[in-house]
Amino acid sequence: MSASSIRVRFAPSPTGMFHVGGARSALYNWAVARQSGGTFVLRIEDTDTARNRPEWTQGIIDALAAIGISADDPAFEGPYFQSENAVRHREAALRLYAAGRAYYCDCTREQLKERTGSEHLGYDGFCRERGLEFAEGRALRFRTPDEGETVVEDLVRGKPIFPNAAIEDFVISRGDGSPVFLLANVVDDLDEGITLVIRGEEHLSNTPKQQLLWEALGARPPVWAHLPVIVNEKRQKLSKRRDKLALEDYLADGFLLEAMVNYLMLLGWGPGDDREIMPYEEMEQLFRIENVNSSPAFFDVKKLTAFNGEYIRALSTEAFIAACAPWLSAPRAPWRAEAFDADVFAVMAPLAQTRLTLLSEITGYVDFLFLDEPVSDEASWAKAMKPGAADLLRDVRRAYAGATWQANELKSALTAVGENHGLKLGKAQAPVRVAVTGRTVGLPLFESLELLGRERTLARLDAALLKLLPN
Ligand code: GLU
Repeated sequence: MSASSIRVRFAPSPTGMFHVGGARSALYNWAVARQSGGTFVLRIEDTDTARNRPEWTQGIIDALAAIGISADDPAFEGPYFQSENAVRHREAALRLYAAGRAYYCDCTREQLKERTGSEHLGYDGFCRERGLEFAEGRALRFRTPDEGETVVEDLVRGKPIFPNAAIEDFVISRGDGSPVFLLANVVDDLDEGITLVIRGEEHLSNTPKQQLLWEALGARPPVWAHLPVIVNEKRQKLSKRRDKLALEDYLADGFLLEAMVNYLMLLGWGPGDDREIMPYEEMEQLFRIENVNSSPAFFDVKKLTAFNGEYIRALSTEAFIAACAPWLSAPRAPWRAEAFDADVFAVMAPLAQTRLTLLSEITGYVDFLFLDEPVSDEASWAKAMKPGAADLLRDVRRAYAGATWQANELKSALTAVGENHGLKLGKAQAPVRVAVTGRTVGLPLFESLELLGRERTLARLDAALLKLLPN
């Protein structure tokens, strides 16, 4: 693939956890850069000093690396820090002022409201012709054209048209001389030679203003691509308050990175055939930014969970065991560290692997092996311990005391006891399973018993009998 001049960027503000919307923007930018032999620039927009924290910046870099956007890849450039370009932002503001494209303004919000009757109508141009010079407290406003229109070339939305008369004379630097986001973002894009801006839809309304700035600074604006908003099952825009947003939180719940990346790529785009589960490398080749849909993308946690199950099943046993590791020790594991036995776990792992949709579910499947006593769950107990359960368990206990300790033998023994009680195997298993594992569902019962061993199995049957027949 020949190197191209396509330069895209991902420009997060380090003001919080790295979330799924940001991850999707980053992945789409990455796919475009990589498939075209272009460049992906990482720019940290760290000018909001009140809200920035250095650890968020490292968090972004680590999260990008985790989803495959590696700073070591030749397509990767940066990170650049917006704060380091502050002089250029000020220069640009002054250049616009010197060229008559911007003017100083000393209007207060109250004055504007008094004149226009509302806070929401935008600036009325009061200071346009007043010829104010710089003074502390005076903002610099961009003089937008009164006529004509600004046509944004957007690869996702077509060509949205904004009549210039409707674009207010917006502030480009504040009363203390510090540039606002609109300007700093444009100056950086310009300095970094960005040719295509792929970002969230919430920035679409900034775009005509930014495009006017590009033109006023004597440069050709980039092409834009505004990605659809991501919504929850109630069709509400995902929000910090309502929804789980941080990539880290999904991983902590037991989602695999590969499944997350696969699913995030589909939030607004699809490979076009019936396949949805596809490794990133393949998607990277098929992805076309022009084919991104502009309608809201539904973040369907159920679908993501189903994807995750598929990804878990596709792992090798070894990789599955490695992926489970964080759940098998403190603080996540409910058992004492000494009680865990990696060899025992390795026997059960392939059986668990076919059943999990989230890695975090692993502890519930294997805890009976490592806890001193099975978990106590009253609902499971009530469901399994119907009248007659005690008699059945007593007979099972008797049979198991002398049985060969091997899954098939244990199964035959329980089948025989069940028959004596007029119960099919499925029904006869339920009280045994709850007595031994604490739960009504779980891994294949007889393999579980074999692994748990005679002594502990009998002790648990005894404990259950004691609970059923205290006297
Ligand atoms: N720092 C802005 C944000 O995180 C980036 C805007 C852009 O991509 O142009 O929303």
